[in-house]
Amino acid sequence: MNSLYKDFLVITLIHKPGVRILFDTRETCSLVANSGIVGFCLLGLALEFELIQREYAKKMKIQFLGAAGEVTGSRHLVELLLNGKTRHFMVDYGMFQGGREATNKNLGVMPIPPKELDFVVLTHAHIDHSGLLPRLCAQGFKGPIYCTTATYELLKILLPDSAHLQFADLERAERKIKQGKWRGEIPVVLYSREEVEMTLAQIEPLEYGQVINLNPKIQLEFRNAGHILGSAIAVLDIQEDGKQKKRCVFSGDIGMKGKVLMPDPDFISAADVVVVESTYGDRLHRSLSETESELVDVISTTMSAHGNVIIPAFAVGRTQEMLFLLMDLVRKSKLPHLSIWVDSPMATAATHLTQHFFSQLDVQSQATFSWFKNNPDSLDLRFIADVEESKSLNKIKGGAIIISASGMCDAGRIVHHLFNNLPRKQTAIIITGFQAYGSLGRRLVDKVQKVRLFGEDVPVKASVHTIGGLSAHADQAGLLEWLRGFTLPPKITFVVHGEPESASVFAQCIREDLGWKNVIIPERLQIYEC
Ligand SMILES: [Zn+2]
Repeated sequence: MNSLYKDFLVITLIHKPGVRILFDTRETCSLVANSGIVGFCLLGLALEFELIQREYAKKMKIQFLGAAGEVTGSRHLVELLLNGKTRHFMVDYGMFQGGREATNKNLGVMPIPPKELDFVVLTHAHIDHSGLLPRLCAQGFKGPIYCTTATYELLKILLPDSAHLQFADLERAERKIKQGKWRGEIPVVLYSREEVEMTLAQIEPLEYGQVINLNPKIQLEFRNAGHILGSAIAVLDIQEDGKQKKRCVFSGDIGMKGKVLMPDPDFISAADVVVVESTYGDRLHRSLSETESELVDVISTTMSAHGNVIIPAFAVGRTQEMLFLLMDLVRKSKLPHLSIWVDSPMATAATHLTQHFFSQLDVQSQATFSWFKNNPDSLDLRFIADVEESKSLNKIKGGAIIISASGMCDAGRIVHHLFNNLPRKQTAIIITGFQAYGSLGRRLVDKVQKVRLFGEDVPVKASVHTIGGLSAHADQAGLLEWLRGFTLPPKITFVVHGEPESASVFAQCIREDLGWKNVIIPERLQIYEC
């Protein structure tokens, strides 16, 4: 009899860790052993009650799988208790970018089996927020992926391109290896085109402002983040077991107020938990007018010297912003007639999509694009489709503005243009976006003398100009202004998506300028209760 109780209780002990303390003393064991079946049942009820109490005391947890102390690999795993069960969902599932270390992180395993995730909330289409979704789905995640309609349309362009680039990089490396010309690491393929298709089939697009029940206990609303087309702030209202309703706000990437193309970010007035980006948390951007003058200077000087202007630009967002700015400068007669080549099939598709979502653009951009429609001869604007046409640009020694991707120069056609133009001193390279540590773009910004492209050393004789005012991210003042939209301090604020210096300066600003007490810069893979 005693041993039967003990066996049963030992099993209970193993399966329900909450009861452990009750069995740590001899008295309890002997009490249970001598009290008979009634006492045992009562104790069982008490244990069950104790267990439930402990489960209720459990707090929601967020584990930051990326974008913690860096700007890429945005992935936040949320764990909570709903109807007595531990549930998980993910906010963003982005790719780490920049060198071998990033590849190793991309190949890392999830802390929980992907099939145990209920859903993914995706803030926007940029690859550092969405780029590993196909890997997640290939590893067993079968649930819905929620994002805005424009994000969904962009993903149809971005994810297949990402898969294609990975294969193309590997094929190129294999060719060079055969020729004995390859030096350095061999590229890794993270997922296939088929896995991208599988991912796209799991997407459930939503409109801004549409409140939906992801399940009876979780509501989601997307608000406009003003960062790129379709970009959203995710507002989640969560009713955990035994807890008051909690509002969690994930900023995604916040756009710069007054920037070209996108409207200003929406303010959110209340939250218990805020996860905010800090890409430029330690600096202020130059004004748009300063940016325009810099652009006019570099382009005019380079055209007079019969050189080319090469602009590495993210295909989504930055390319369309550059087109808008150049169009606007011609419209204002600050620049003469220009020959612009957009050499990125993805940028071409994204530009068409921008036209499709015309009503989501800010008013001034709508006016400039309409002007160009009525004055098509004011610019010689060409979109390059096939590879042969792209290669023919290598013959142009001067007078061209070439906008190409990727934005950090690590992959895509831009690498060919840099390969051909970096050795020419008449060339100007205009860097307009954030360049992560380890990326080719960052090395150019850091004024290296030579770079290794396609396994070969290439001297950098071109001039490199960084024009900072075009960022799609809010600067320190913009981020603080967005946070001021919360009428009361959140219970906890996490500062993510920034390099260590930027995140640290911004967290201090939040504490000092806003007087918020509980501000945390999470470490990668650490779990935080909130
Ligand atoms: Zn972004």
